[in-house]
Amino acid sequence: MENCLFCKINCGEIPAEKVYDGDGIFAIQDINPQAPVHLLIIPKKHVSTLLEIEEGDYPLIGSIFGVGNDLARERKLDQSGFRLVANCGAEAGQSVFHIHYHLLGGRAMQWPLG
Ligand code: 5GP
Ligand code: ZN
Repeated sequence: MENCLFCKINCGEIPAEKVYDGDGIFAIQDINPQAPVHLLIIPKKHVSTLLEIEEGDYPLIGSIFGVGNDLARERKLDQSGFRLVANCGAEAGQSVFHIHYHLLGGRAMQWPLG
């Protein structure tokens, strides 16, 4: 997809260190981290928002959770806990319109969110 930040990062047009690069999914450090660990887990397929996910994408979306668990364990977050969240649309604060899950950990977090 033209003019999509995460598509450009995926194809190498915009540089970012991939902390995971697998079958259909990659992960990068968030450029503006909100916690000691703040990764973005991103499907390589361009899907703008959670609402655009199609039934055929369900296995891909499911595998994001497996990658999230692996990355969380690698970073020793499995004992302390972590958050795996996706924002959808304006009021949720989505700013990049290519779906991604935030993996956040390494500090105590508040609930409910602001
Ligand atoms: P959203 O607000 O859409 O849920 O999350 C988008 C995230 O992408 C934000 O946390 C933001 O810091 C991150 N981000 C924006 N631009 C870049 C970039 O160029 N590189 C990286 N690694 N992260 C980015
Ligand atoms: Zn994209």
